[in-house]
Amino acid sequence: MTRFALFAVVGAALLSACATPLEAPLSCFEGAIRLDQSEPGQPASPCTRVSATEFVLTITPEAEPINPSPWYAFTVLSDRSAEIGVTLRYAAARHRYAPWIAVQDDAWRRLDPQQVSVSETGGEARLSLDLAAGPTQVAAQPVYPESAYEALETRWGGDWRTFGTSHQGRALRARIDPPAEPEAGWILILGRQHPPEIPGAWALEAFAETLIEARSTGEIASGLIIAPLLNPDGVAAGYWRLNAAQTDLNRDWAERRQPEVQAVHGLLDSLDIRPGDLELMADFHATVRDVIYLPQAEELPPGANTRLEAWLSAMEADGLYALIEPERTNPVRRVSAKAAFTDGWGAVAVTWEAADDTPEAQVRAIARRGARQWVLTQD
Ligand SMILES: [Zn+2]
Repeated sequence: MTRFALFAVVGAALLSACATPLEAPLSCFEGAIRLDQSEPGQPASPCTRVSATEFVLTITPEAEPINPSPWYAFTVLSDRSAEIGVTLRYAAARHRYAPWIAVQDDAWRRLDPQQVSVSETGGEARLSLDLAAGPTQVAAQPVYPESAYEALETRWGGDWRTFGTSHQGRALRARIDPPAEPEAGWILILGRQHPPEIPGAWALEAFAETLIEARSTGEIASGLIIAPLLNPDGVAAGYWRLNAAQTDLNRDWAERRQPEVQAVHGLLDSLDIRPGDLELMADFHATVRDVIYLPQAEELPPGANTRLEAWLSAMEADGLYALIEPERTNPVRRVSAKAAFTDGWGAVAVTWEAADDTPEAQVRAIARRGARQWVLTQD
């Protein structure tokens, strides 16, 4: 090979090396197939593009240490149908949530498990996606953003009020139904302190709807306060756990430093609700199993304990415990909503946990039956 020919070969190799990035942009966010993280609930996960069709997303929490709820959510925009791979690389947790996808504006559905391969340690999961032209959303759970709560308000109707604002100024909203009789007490329903726990949001909807119906038919006279979205900032940001001040709201109920928690107490004050007036406080979450965390009998005043025992017996008789486990807990740190409304208010205070993987229809059915048994056992 002549010296000139060698130069030509090396030159061609350099040229083709230089040309590659034009065909497969280095950025994840440009090109014929590109990621987008601008929708509510989508965190800005760092992304590396390995090739035109292969992406690596680093799934990071908003702060550490933190509960392992490794939320992810993003959109893939494609100009054509294509097969791509997206690897989720977990920085501070292991793969937990089986992925969901929504193509165009279609409903969310589970990604076929055959299209997910999880590394032995759980530190990585590769999703194989068959894209159609247009947007494909991918997320750890069907995304349930603030706009879905606005739709809920429209669907339910009733008297909704803004009772405070979050750190970032988002409205905290509650539906309020005053007691139908002067002697009747109140029920407080709280939700979405922890952003990824969407099955808890489904359970809250079904539980609250059942109580609203029971009020409208006159089966119960209790006042209702339904505050389904206590952490709108965390939900919008796609956080794992915390609010915008990097605080776990469900560890703030004793100190009440956060505006979201203070607002709930402000609302109770404004309605002149005093300790003893709250019959039930149900706080909705999601975890790895279906479970209702309950206070110990000795933690409650006699009247509240009688109500709790009647409810538990009715749920057991209904066969509900085959689907959701009752568990008495007595945490040393009395900082959760459950602990604070048990200790300070003498309320039947429970944490209702739907499982990550329980189908939505079942989550709703369990919550509906649980609420129904409450209605049937209270005077
Ligand atoms: Zn939670």
